Amino acid sequence: MGADCIFCRIAEGSVKSQKVAEDDEALAFKDLNPAAPTHILVIPKKHIPSLSASGPEDKALLGHLQAFARDLARDLKLESFRIVANNGRGAGQSVDHLHYHLLSGRRMTWPPG
Ligand code: 5GP
Ligand code: ZN
Repeated sequence: MGADCIFCRIAEGSVKSQKVAEDDEALAFKDLNPAAPTHILVIPKKHIPSLSASGPEDKALLGHLQAFARDLARDLKLESFRIVANNGRGAGQSVDHLHYHLLSGRRMTWPPG
């Protein structure tokens, strides 16, 4: 577990969140400050600071997270959605625990800001 990592606290249950889905390796919960009508965060339960910080041993887990997000989008009947991982401060990462934003319910623009 990451020291003082808010998403590790959420994964272990000591900080409350609005859980949407969970399995042994992954957790999905609602973003506290939603940027779209549907804004869910998908995280590994394992503390990995960022996508860049993941290693070869995480390859299966990374695949699992994407499939987990796909299944969630399917279960929620999201027709159009966007999955975003901000990697590094310059890209907007503010929490140093790997997470994927699952955004849906409004028109998305391209390129992202
Ligand atoms: P980032 O900026 O790192 O890409 O995304 C972090 C996201 O985590 C932000 O969208 C922010 O609203 C969300 N967030 C930060 N702290 C909490 C929290 O304690 N609970 C929940 N549910 N979301 C959080
Ligand atoms: Zn963590």
